[in-house]
This record gives sequence, structure tokens and C-alpha cells, in this order.
Amino acid sequence: MTEQQTGFTLPRKVSILGAGKSGMAAARYLSKRNIDIFVSDTCSMKDLDFRLAANELAHVPHEAQEHTEKVLVADLIVLSPGIAADIPLLQTARKKGIAVWSEIELAYRVCKPPIVAVTGSTGKSTTVGLLHSMVQKSDRQSVLAGNIGFPAISQLPKLPPDGLGIVEMSSFQLETIVAFKPKIAAITNILKNHLDRYRSEKEYFSAKKRIIMNMGPDDYLLLNLHDVKLRRWAEDLGSKVQVVYFGDKPVAGDCCWIDGDDIWCVLDGTRAVAGSLKQMQLSGNHNRINACAAALMAHLSGISPNAVSEGIAAFGGLEHRMEFVAEKNGIAYYNDSKSTTAESIREAVGAFGNRRIYLIAGGKDKGCDFSVVNKAVQAHVKKVLTIGEASRRIIQTWSNLTLVEKSPTLEEAVRMASQEAQAGDVVILSPGCSSFDMFCGFEERGRVFKDAVLTIRENAADA
Ligand code: ADP
Repeated sequence: MTEQQTGFTLPRKVSILGAGKSGMAAARYLSKRNIDIFVSDTCSMKDLDFRLAANELAHVPHEAQEHTEKVLVADLIVLSPGIAADIPLLQTARKKGIAVWSEIELAYRVCKPPIVAVTGSTGKSTTVGLLHSMVQKSDRQSVLAGNIGFPAISQLPKLPPDGLGIVEMSSFQLETIVAFKPKIAAITNILKNHLDRYRSEKEYFSAKKRIIMNMGPDDYLLLNLHDVKLRRWAEDLGSKVQVVYFGDKPVAGDCCWIDGDDIWCVLDGTRAVAGSLKQMQLSGNHNRINACAAALMAHLSGISPNAVSEGIAAFGGLEHRMEFVAEKNGIAYYNDSKSTTAESIREAVGAFGNRRIYLIAGGKDKGCDFSVVNKAVQAHVKKVLTIGEASRRIIQTWSNLTLVEKSPTLEEAVRMASQEAQAGDVVILSPGCSSFDMFCGFEERGRVFKDAVLTIRENAADA
């Protein structure tokens, strides 16, 4: 259903809390439709004026440095995922009957193409990227939206009614959905994550579970077979939704699995090939499972096995996820800056067979469990160079297993690794932590790493 067909009436007055990408997209959308908007952000006035002007919104009333009660003069508050949904101002808003929505909820209300939503702790962006690549090889149109970096409110309206909205959702975005209802939802995994923002693992998992809140028995919930927490949860779901597992082996009932290079599905007792991994460019078992999840979503959306296989073959991976940067003096450098969980470090260091790894890890400590990487560190890592706040915990966990040294900066860590590594070795930035103690985001961290690698001098003999 397109923007014009939903029958939803936009509220008269909307406050936008947070002037980041999604907030600015919501403001642009509403302003074009002559809705009264007010923008509030804690950045400096100079910064906010600049952002508004860059979005042709200089005329919009706004406040900087703090969120005040002015925000409450509204029928709806659109909340940025970077702001906690339970701050006192929002509690007051709800008491006053003011709706608080994520920008994705707003997009969903004004425009309802069929939605496929993906959440989980890791693998979301890779999975939605693979799915989008598969759909692009078919005659159906799709857009990528949500946490992947393209606001839903600027993407979903581009779709025709028979298009497919592919939405990546963080737990923060799920906290503020109300009626959002995907036709298909996939959860890649639930790992110890974001304990800097949630009081407990249970609370974090509860936010993820909200993805099925409005789904029914005709909708599909796709779950990673290898995730015990997800399997336990599914046992109690009854007929709420149709659960389909994906993984590296078949199970009783509906499922999708990898056999050699083929991806197979059984749905309602019918077995079919969904696609092939033969020409996949991405490495690592985790990416085969991500592709399996994407193929299952594509299969359920009517995309042919040929398009699925071609989409997998065409997908070259995303920046900052196991991205090859350069080979210098025979040493290969990989940028995995998007790695913000210990499990992602484990996948990264395990992806190079017997090659020796120099691992750069650390950053803002989100409370994840670094001991899940112990075996992989012992087996593959010659030396760990730690950066940032999490250094102390990493040193505590791994210094009995391999060499671990703290580095004052990321650039210095690259320099140290480049001097100690030998031809044939691999240097990976796979922080397993968020970046905000030292950088504006994982993108900046990845760029700093890549710049540092590109300035490494080649030895005269090898040059
Ligand atoms: P997300 O969008 O959930 O952060 P990405 O696809 O961007 O996930 O990948 C983030 C990091 O996690 C990268 O380092 C990537 O190599 C790693 N990763 C991807 N899929 C998985 C998985 N299924 N399990 C563990 N790590 C993964």
C-alpha cells in the first residue's frame, strides 16, 4: 500500500527529538506536508542550525543543548534511536497522552508496502544487504531502510504497492514501534550486547522480541537454529506466528538449511532449493548462515532460486565488515570496524585458516563477554593490541592466552602491528566494542584505520 492509500491522517503538531539522520528525514517529510514541527537536540545551537539549514529546514522552530518541555506541545513525538525511550520527559509525554514513535513507525503508518524486517545482535546489515541484492536480481523492487543508515521515511515511499521494504531494526528502534507489523521478521542471533544501555540481558532480549508484537499466524518469524535463547523462546510462542528455522542442518517442521553449497527449504512439507552459495564472495561460516536467512526471506517473498544465487554472487560485502584494505609488505590488513560484539571478533579471527593474526580490539565497553573468543584467540592470534576503555578487561581475559599490549591510539596500534607482523600474517581491526570513547562512530574508526594502513611504507625490497 502506498503513501496515498493508507488512510492515515498525519498529526497536526509533531516534535522531533534528535536531529540525526532519521530525525532530519522525518522533519523533511513532515515539513513538506505542512505539518507544524519542532526540533530538539542536545548538540550546540551552531551545530543544530547547520544541520537544519543543510536539510532546508532553517525555518523550523528548534531548541539546542537540552530537551525542554517545549517538546510536549505536540500530538506526536518522533524519537531518534540514540535517545533512551524512558527519559523523564518522554514519561511525562506519555502521561499526557502524547504518542512517542520511532521514525520507522511513522514511515509504516504513512506507507505500507509489505515489510521484511531483520533484527538481532550481529549480522543484520549483511543479511539485509544480501536480501536486497537478491531482490534486485528479480523483477520486484525493493528498498533498504532503517538501522542500515537509510531512514525508512525517506525510502518506503519510493516503493510501488507490490515492492518490498527491507528494514533493518535495532533494539532501540523496536522500543518505539506501536503498530509496525512486518510480514516476515528474522532474528539473526541474541548475544550479550548493549549492556551499557539496558539494565539486563533480559531487558535487551525483550526489546528484540517486540518485533513480533503485531504479527499473526499468517506471518513468518525466521530464527537462527544455532541460537539457544531464540529456540527456547520459540517453544512458548504456540501459534502466534509461523516459526521457520535457518541454519546448517535441517530440523523437523519448516526450516531452511545449507547442504554443501545449496540452500534448501521445507515449507508446509514441500522441499525446494532456495538458491546457491557457490559464487559467494563473502568469507566465514557466519556469512553463510546470514545468506541462508536472506535466501529464506527471499524464498518466502516469491524470489526465484536463480535470483537468490545471482544476488549472493553479486554481493561484495559492506564497508567496515571484514573489508580488505591493502597488502603491505606481504601483510594483509582488514577493516572490521563494525564488529561491536565479542562474537564478531571470534568470527573475524577464525576466518583466515592458519594465518597468524594481529588483532586490534577494544573501545567503549558494552559489557560483552570476551571469554567467548578465548579458544579462537589461543588458536589464531599472535598478538592483541588493545585500544580504548575496554583495554583493561581485554587484558584481564586474554593475557594468559597470547601476547596483549595496550596502545594509546588506533594509529599507533596499526604502526605497532605493521612493525611486528611478518609476510603472510593478517592485521585485523575487529574491536568488539562500540567506538564512542575515541571516535564519532564505527565509520570514523574504520576510516582512521584505513588511513593509517595506507600510510604504512613498503620496505624497499618489496616496493
Ligand atoms: P549488524 O548490522 O547487526 O551490526 P553487520 O552485518 O553489520 O551486523 O556485521 C557486524 C559485525 O558482525 C561484522 O564484524 C561482521 O563481520 C560480524 N558478523 C556478521 N554476521 C555475524 C554473525 N552471524 N555472527 C557473528 N558476527 C557476525
